Amino acid sequence: MIIVKEVESKSILSKTAIPKADYVINPYIGCSHGCIYCYARFMKRFTGHKEPWGSFLDIKINSPQLVPKKTNKYHDKYILISSVTDPYLQFEREYQITRKILENLLPLDLNLMILTKSHLVLRDLDIIKKFQKKEVGISISTLDEDLRKKLEPSAPSIQSRLNTLNRIHKQGVRNYLFISPIFPYLTDWKQIIDLTRDYVDYYMFENLNVIGSVWPSVKKFLDENHPGLTEEYHQIYFKDNIYWEMVKYEIINFCENENLEFEIYFH
Ligand code: SF4
Repeated sequence: MIIVKEVESKSILSKTAIPKADYVINPYIGCSHGCIYCYARFMKRFTGHKEPWGSFLDIKINSPQLVPKKTNKYHDKYILISSVTDPYLQFEREYQITRKILENLLPLDLNLMILTKSHLVLRDLDIIKKFQKKEVGISISTLDEDLRKKLEPSAPSIQSRLNTLNRIHKQGVRNYLFISPIFPYLTDWKQIIDLTRDYVDYYMFENLNVIGSVWPSVKKFLDENHPGLTEEYHQIYFKDNIYWEMVKYEIINFCENENLEFEIYFH
């Protein structure tokens, strides 16, 4: 059960420190995918929401109109849609907020970066293709559908995401597979690459970040499903540990040897 509200927003393009992006657009507050590792749950603090993450969604109903009409300010800037929600949640089917935002962004001559887990992005490829510079990313943490259901209970299936990446590629739009988050001992990133390299332009890697209220959520998942890993994670995150340095080194070696284009964003 999700509580959906329509809200008026004051602005839509926000400056960001996210690597590669200059601005972000989040057409929604909250995210119905409800991923257990989501660090966007910090948004609750700023928006007054008390409900559990994944159980509320505010639709910024006026956001397309907040895109400036005539300005050079965003010329050649990198705009990411989205960072703390998914721009193609099921509600987008009806509301078409992201689609209208894209239509209004088109004249601003910017670099469009879309990040989603949903096949609904395929609906907007007609507009996306019109941008001079664009790329669409799909995030995947595992190929194991049972594990996916536990980590991202309301998100689209892995197969649907793989099909989406493939179709984006076939439509000639640059794509990337965001292998994120990498769960220690659970995410087999090499297996993900092996399966997808024929239709993925480049890979991005992000490690699991257990900041703030994410750790209790991840710990609960581990205790219930992989009790043997709780202590391992504790060592990685709360003691001096070179685990992520080793993973980073392995990714660099692997991708360079395989001539893969890649970027790493580790916390
Ligand atoms: S899709 Fe992204 S924003 Fe939505 S719950 Fe999952 S991690 Fe958070």
